[in-house]
Amino acid sequence: MLTMQELTKTYRTELVQTHALSNFNLQVEEGDFVAVTGPSGSGKTTFLNIAGLLETFDQGTYNLDGENVRGLSDKARSRLRNEKIGFIFQSFNLIPDLDLFDNVDVPLRYRGFNSAERKRRIERCLEMVGLANRMKHLPSQLSGGQQQRVAIARALAGEPRFLLADEPTGNLDSKMAHSVMELLKDINDRGTTIVMVTHDPLLAQQAKRNI
Ligand code: ADP
Ligand code: MG
Repeated sequence: MLTMQELTKTYRTELVQTHALSNFNLQVEEGDFVAVTGPSGSGKTTFLNIAGLLETFDQGTYNLDGENVRGLSDKARSRLRNEKIGFIFQSFNLIPDLDLFDNVDVPLRYRGFNSAERKRRIERCLEMVGLANRMKHLPSQLSGGQQQRVAIARALAGEPRFLLADEPTGNLDSKMAHSVMELLKDINDRGTTIVMVTHDPLLAQQAKRNI
């Protein structure tokens, strides 16, 4: 479903070249739950941003769901990202002055669903993460673990085939990290393919596959 072959990404500034990825290969099958670990600076975020079509690469091939993403226009990439990928960030990235309902609604507005369909999806996803009774709360009224749950609901509302997570538990204490991990496993059991970057070996062990 997701295949990267000989992928290369070099960041260039006037003084230095950084080889963030060189000849990187990865195949992820439908239904997999892959944890990616590695030291700081080893290229994990670069890889995930490329996988999520947030960043381009220099050489190699990347096929997402049978589509070669190399030659796609910016517009086509955005559409593909919006339809197929849910992204979760370490720092949640919620919009502070929108309540939970409206935060989850943000990506749905771009998709042209009518308001009844959006409402159905928002309520279903907030229910799945255990926050259905908090829909009118602001992010600041929630704990870190709850905020990350909202971010997961937002990523899931578009019903993506892939969920990509960059250190999703990095800002959480171990109890909350564990509960977010349980939620991700549950989502994977329901059929969503997950690739998660983490520095925590105990969490990585709980994925189906480690790289
Ligand atoms: P990780 O997520 O594993 O910590 P990154 O993918 O963020 O690693 O970074 C890999 C390497 O690429 C690092 O050496 C980092 O400094 C460099 N790098 C990342 N982003 C940029 C950028 N926008 N410009 C220049 N160098 C970068
Ligand atoms: Mg990183």
